[in-house]
Amino acid sequence: NLQNTENMYRIKTVLVGDINVGKTSLANRFAQDRFDNTYKHTIGASFINKTAIVSGYVINFQIWDTAGQERYRSLVPMYLRGAHIAFIVYDVTEMDSYGSVGFWLDALQHHGDMIKTVLVANKCDLEHSVDQSIAEIFAEDQNLMFFSTSAKTGYNVDKLFHTMGSMVVEQF
Ligand code: GDP
Ligand code: MG
Repeated sequence: NLQNTENMYRIKTVLVGDINVGKTSLANRFAQDRFDNTYKHTIGASFINKTAIVSGYVINFQIWDTAGQERYRSLVPMYLRGAHIAFIVYDVTEMDSYGSVGFWLDALQHHGDMIKTVLVANKCDLEHSVDQSIAEIFAEDQNLMFFSTSAKTGYNVDKLFHTMGSMVVEQF
């Protein structure tokens, strides 16, 4: 279901995870290279487009960002439909947000479509409450990619999107 129009690959990327983990910030950092310290509630679902050239491919990332209401199981299938990449984001300073990773993994595994899934440890510029090596072992166990990021400093954000984007393109 990857459309290739005029050599442009459209890749649906969904951000899931608890509220306040930095989903909107990651999308904004990647799409607009900006960061906002003040918290703005995401209203409903928002959608950002970003075209990038990655390993010679023109990739249009269609980034779906939501407010946390997506945690209601009934909304999940609609949100995930047609997705190529899912980022399960947690906040390294909030153990509870790491605890929610299983919910999302379960939802993604039950969804059926082949969605490349990444465990994203965001806010890595701050002191960690969640042990990174434990998260990495969990990711490896579950066959997930793992990236530690900071939407604030920009650390690993482009790399996260680019790596996953080229992986999806090359698989088709
Ligand atoms: P969302 O609810 O998952 O969309 O989270 P937001 O993107 O709105 O971010 C929640 C709060 O965390 C905001 O105050 C952001 O400025 C802050 N934040 C997001 N990412 C980072 C990060 O990488 N580092 C730091 N220090 N703060 C971040
Ligand atoms: Mg948000």
